[in-house]
Amino acid sequence: MTDIVFMGPPGVGKGTQAVVLAERAGLIHLASGDLLRANIRDQTELGLLAKSYVDSGGLVPDELVVDMVLDRMLDAVATLLDGFPRTVAQAVELDRRFALAHRRIDAAVLLTAPRPTLIRRIVGRRSCRQCRAQINIYHSPSRVEGICDVCGGKLMTRSDDNTATAQLRLDVYDDQTRPLVEHYRAAGVLREVEGTGEPAEVGSRIVAALAAASPHPMVGSP
Ligand code: ADP
Repeated sequence: MTDIVFMGPPGVGKGTQAVVLAERAGLIHLASGDLLRANIRDQTELGLLAKSYVDSGGLVPDELVVDMVLDRMLDAVATLLDGFPRTVAQAVELDRRFALAHRRIDAAVLLTAPRPTLIRRIVGRRSCRQCRAQINIYHSPSRVEGICDVCGGKLMTRSDDNTATAQLRLDVYDDQTRPLVEHYRAAGVLREVEGTGEPAEVGSRIVAALAAASPHPMVGSP
């Protein structure tokens, strides 16, 4: 059983890397942001409550998020958590519920990149309405502007991917999520990985960091 947490500021590439690693290591990828956006799209009770927080760039209150993620996590055998936990309270609750299930977080991968890189990545991000593929207008543009290369669907910008909201999300990360680094360092599971450069290069660094850390590597070397 393996459970990994992906941490790092908005725009650092957690989602991109998480999809690849989950596939490679056979983990269920749980992205709290995607789960919230699906609830908002479907106008569920949770979605209606969460919408204003997500749009403003603030965090959704812990009590709304914790069950949404943990119920799914405890249903799965091995998971990769992306975007959760985001506060110390969420991490403490995760530890508590995991301990009851005789599980523990095996590794917390912290991806890092300088703030100007993060803003550019966030503001340039577009995703396909149909197939969810992601591109960036600055470093991986689609062949035809506004149209997905994969399926021909329309590319859209997330409501919180503008410069002002991105700045706020980065401040919220510094205030509320960064303290988690010490939580996982103290637990001896923190793996810091430089998130700048090509996605494939970052992916190789992540695999190497996990393989070096584990006596029984669950992901082979690149
Ligand atoms: P990013 O990593 O680019 O900030 P996400 O898709 O992970 O994007 O999250 C988008 C928004 O969803 C956050 O700004 C926040 O409002 C909300 N959110 C996601 N995960 C959590 C969480 N664990 N706790 C509280 N709010 C969350």
